[in-house]
Amino acid sequence: MTAEIHFNRRIPIRHNVDVFIAGGGPAGVAAALAAARSGVSVFLIEGQGCFGGMGTSGLIPAFMRFGDGIHFLAEGVGREIYEGLKQEATLYDDRVHDVVGIDVEALKRLYDLLMEQSGAQFSFFTQLVGVEAANGVVKTAVCAAKSGLFAVEARVFIDATGDGDLAAWAGAPYEKGDEQGRMMPGTLCGLWANFDWEKRNAQPIPDDHYLEQAFEEGIFSIPDRHLPGMFRTGKDTAGGNLLHTFGVDGTDERSLTEAMLWGRKVILEYETYYRRYFPDAFAEAHMVATGAVLGIRESRRILGDYVLNLQDFLAKAVFADEIGRYCYPVDIHPLTSDAQEYERFSEEYARLRYQPGDSYGIPYRILTPRGFDNLLTAGRCVSADRIIQGSLRVMPGCYLTGQAAGMAAAIAAGRDCAVSAVPVKELQHKLIEFGAYLPNA
Ligand SMILES: Cc1cc2nc3c(=O)[nH]c(=O)nc-3n(C[C@H](O)[C@H](O)[C@H](O)COP(=O)(O)OP(=O)(O)OC[C@H]3O[C@@H](n4cnc5c(N)ncnc54)[C@H](O)[C@@H]3O)c2cc1C
Repeated sequence: MTAEIHFNRRIPIRHNVDVFIAGGGPAGVAAALAAARSGVSVFLIEGQGCFGGMGTSGLIPAFMRFGDGIHFLAEGVGREIYEGLKQEATLYDDRVHDVVGIDVEALKRLYDLLMEQSGAQFSFFTQLVGVEAANGVVKTAVCAAKSGLFAVEARVFIDATGDGDLAAWAGAPYEKGDEQGRMMPGTLCGLWANFDWEKRNAQPIPDDHYLEQAFEEGIFSIPDRHLPGMFRTGKDTAGGNLLHTFGVDGTDERSLTEAMLWGRKVILEYETYYRRYFPDAFAEAHMVATGAVLGIRESRRILGDYVLNLQDFLAKAVFADEIGRYCYPVDIHPLTSDAQEYERFSEEYARLRYQPGDSYGIPYRILTPRGFDNLLTAGRCVSADRIIQGSLRVMPGCYLTGQAAGMAAAIAAGRDCAVSAVPVKELQHKLIEFGAYLPNA
């Protein structure tokens, strides 16, 4: 058994707010904007030095679909981000609201601006390290920052950590990975300068075209058949979503450390690959950064009053308590580098996708962890089975659950009611006023 100590300190209660949000990724920012603009007091903490989570600190190079090919589904915060980036003329590769490349510094500035204008209070470099909860009520969040430990009290707590840290530490039930606890691999993303996009576009061959040849040549340490690729993030910059860190557990810093070390080595193998097989586009290119954090696709899914599932995807479900609709295909990356797993992924990705105009409903109940009165989840860790998590996890989906969680928290704080007692019609009405696309409400 590991030796233990009893840790006991008196720490200041530095904030007492209506809504506390842990995590400033796409879900946390959307939640903060919706809550703060509703007039309630908000305090958000973010462990890194910027908003945006995976899309900034993790250097994820692209947004997946904002819409279903006909409707712009991510109305609200998603629309503001999309239009805000367009104003800065930083959007590249917009294939009818499909994939939108991310100019990472423009996105950071946009989040800063929106958050500052919203009136929400926030603090970077601040980590959630503990939660005090009893009888289904979260009382205090314990935070750690350069100034030391401090506590935050709030009427409603929103977990937007991606990993469900707050909810899990409060004692909410959760699932993690498949039946054997296996999770999608992570990715350390990178950024390249002097990438010649004119030449790359003139050679319209998929990034993975030469992989088998490269395996034979011994360029790679492992034969990873799944290569998402280099995405255009600026005039002459390319964001690489390339390697996979198989077996990583995003809720364990020891596993993350190992994966980061491995990622920083292996990413050079991909440089060799692009230099050799895409010489025209890559001749002058050089890597300028890797992500400050490892890209994590999957960890805890906090179990809520409903679990969105495969049947709902197949049925293009409509819910009475719908807070949004979404459409991205089921994209569960191969769990290992073997050929069978790659086949499973390819078959699933081709099969579990929609025609233009199709989408599934997102019920409010997937944001309310079972048995808690004042706790909500948003983003990657909401209550869905693995299949739907594989769709809803992308950033436009996180804006949808984020803004709904923020709005519901504001209503619950204002009415002093449990989150599960938030009147659905009022929530939907306020979301529509906020700009949300809710055709069934
Ligand atoms: C490699 C990779 C490629 C992807 N590609 C795409 C893509 O092409 N398009 C797309 O739309 N989506 C993509 N995604 C998915 C998408 O980026 C994430 O699922 C999405 O960012 C999740 O949003 P979130 O707000 O739930 O969590 P995150 O983006 O992870 O944000 C969570 C935030 O909370 C902070 N945090 C976490 N724990 C704590 C704590 N204890 N205390 C304080 N702060 C904390 C983190 O620092 C982070 O900023 C990709 C993901 C990965 C990993």
